[in-house]
Amino acid sequence: MTLEEYRNIAEPGELRLIEAMARRLDGRKFIHVNSTFTGGGVAELLQRMVPLFNSMGIKTEWKVIKGTKPFFEVTKRIHNSLQGQGLMITRRMWETYEAVNERNAQKMDLSADCVFIHDPQPAMLIDRKKEGLWIWRCHIDISAPDRATWYILKKHVENYDAAIFSAAKFAQSLNIPQFMITPSIDPLSEKNRDLTEEEVAEVYERFGIPRDKPLILQVSRFDPFKDPLGVMDAFFLVRKYHDCRLVLAGGTATDDPEGERVLAQVREKAEGCPDIHILLLPPFSDKEINALQRGATIVLQKSTKEGFGLVVAEALWKERPVIAGDVGGIPLQVIDGVTGYLVHSIEGTAFRIRQLLQNPALAEQMGRAGKEHIRRNFLITGHIKHYLSLWIAMENRDSSVIYI
Ligand code: UDP
Repeated sequence: MTLEEYRNIAEPGELRLIEAMARRLDGRKFIHVNSTFTGGGVAELLQRMVPLFNSMGIKTEWKVIKGTKPFFEVTKRIHNSLQGQGLMITRRMWETYEAVNERNAQKMDLSADCVFIHDPQPAMLIDRKKEGLWIWRCHIDISAPDRATWYILKKHVENYDAAIFSAAKFAQSLNIPQFMITPSIDPLSEKNRDLTEEEVAEVYERFGIPRDKPLILQVSRFDPFKDPLGVMDAFFLVRKYHDCRLVLAGGTATDDPEGERVLAQVREKAEGCPDIHILLLPPFSDKEINALQRGATIVLQKSTKEGFGLVVAEALWKERPVIAGDVGGIPLQVIDGVTGYLVHSIEGTAFRIRQLLQNPALAEQMGRAGKEHIRRNFLITGHIKHYLSLWIAMENRDSSVIYI
C-alpha cells in the first residue's frame, strides 16, 4: 500500500500536503493501541492506516491490550454507560479495569514519539506514560455520558496531551485540547473496492439469498445500540405493503461479549419469516460485506447511539441510499433528503423505506450524491492528513505559524 495508489481518488493538494508532513516525520515512531485486532470500526481503520503510515516512512506499530473475559464485560459496561445507558460501574469493576490496564502497561513497550490510545478500554495506560505525545482517540458516542462513569475516566483522559472525538457534539469539558476528526473508509480495501456484478451475485448465491425482490440491508455487530430488533419491526411494517427481503449481517468482536445475547433475540424474532436473512459473518468477511452492500436496494443503520458509523460511509461509497438514526456521527454522512434520510423511530424508518422503494430514481440520485460526499470528506487520505497535522501542531504548540 502506498499513497501513490490514491492519486486518482483523493484531492491532489491533499496528497502533496501528506507527503510534506510525512517527510517531516520521517523515521519517527508512532504507536496505536486498542483492544481488538478484529471486529468493529477501530480495527477496520487501523488495518488500513498502519501500513500506509509505514509506507510513508513513519515507523508505525499497532498493539492490542490483552484482557480477560471479566475485563471485557466491564469495558463493555463502561462503553455502554458512556453511551448513556445509565449503568453503574462499581468499585470492584473499576479495579478489574485498572488491574488489566496495569498488567498491559508493564508488558508493552510504548516508547514512541506519538502514541494514540483508542477508546476507553486501554485509556488508563496513560498512567504509565514516560515520553512522547499521548493522544486519547475516542470513537464512541459520548454526547450524553453517565456522569459518574465519565467523572472517573475523565481524570485519566486529562493526563493525555489531547483528545480526539468524531463529532463536535461529543466535546467535553476537559483541561486538555480537544480536536474533532472523523473516521474514514479506504476506497481501495477489499471492503470497498469495485466489484463486478458476477462477484456480487456469487456472494448472494453463496449465502442463499435470492435477489428476486428489493433488498434492505443492515450490517452491524449484534449490539443493542445498533437496534437490530427495531430494524425488524420497521421491516414488518414495510412488508404489509411491499414484498421485499431484509438481510441482517454481522459478526461479533473479541472485545464485545454482548453479541451472542442480541443475536439470539434477533433469531427468535425472525422465526417463521423466510424473507429475513440473518448472517453471522466470521472476521475479515470484507468481500462479502462489500458485495452485500453493493447488492442492496436500501441500506439501513438504525443506531440509537453511534460514534461515527463506518458502515454508513461504506454504503454511501457504493452509491446506496442510507436510512439511518439521527445520532452520533451519522448526520455528518447522511444529509437528510440528499444522501439518504435521518430517522427517529420505527415508524419513521418504515415510512422512508417505503418512500425509496416507490421511487427508485430518487434512491439512485441519493446514492450518487452519497458517493461524492464520502469522496470529499471521509476517505482515508483526509484522515491521515488530520492525524499528521495534529501530531505536528501538538509538537509545535508554541509556534503561531508552522511551516511544513
Ligand atoms: N463489520 C465487519 N463485520 C461485521 C460487522 C461489521 O467487518 O460482521 C465492519 C463494518 O463493515 C465496518 C465496521 O466493522 O467497517 C463497523 O464500524 P462502525 O463504525 O459501523 O461500528 P462499530 O462496530 O465500530 O460500532
